[in-house]
Amino acid sequence: MSAKPEFIDAAIAGNILARKCRKCGELHLATVYFCKKCGSKEFEDSILKGTGKVVTYTIMTVPPAGFEDFTPYAWVIMELDDSGIRVSGFLPNIEKPEDLPIGTAVKVDGFGECGIILKRL
Ligand SMILES: [Zn+2]
Repeated sequence: MSAKPEFIDAAIAGNILARKCRKCGELHLATVYFCKKCGSKEFEDSILKGTGKVVTYTIMTVPPAGFEDFTPYAWVIMELDDSGIRVSGFLPNIEKPEDLPIGTAVKVDGFGECGIILKRL
């Protein structure tokens, strides 16, 4: 993972660090050089609350290297409540679809070597 230290710190605190366009307010998750909406190059940091709902996910039972301790887990796309921004992360100990209905409330709960760690609310 090539996440920035400040992004990791925010995730450990349960938040998502986004870049907000100073001109139009559009939020960007990754570091961008131009606003995808208005083309402005001026951004400021914006701390988003890391709570949201599961939009979709994939259950992984055969993990890539580094994920062994979390298997089986779900690789989840969640939509943040406050901003509608979608972030992906992993939720340990999900074995079958019944374990994690779409729409389940989840929150950012840390950052591991594999990325954002989520947990159920
Ligand atoms: Zn903009």
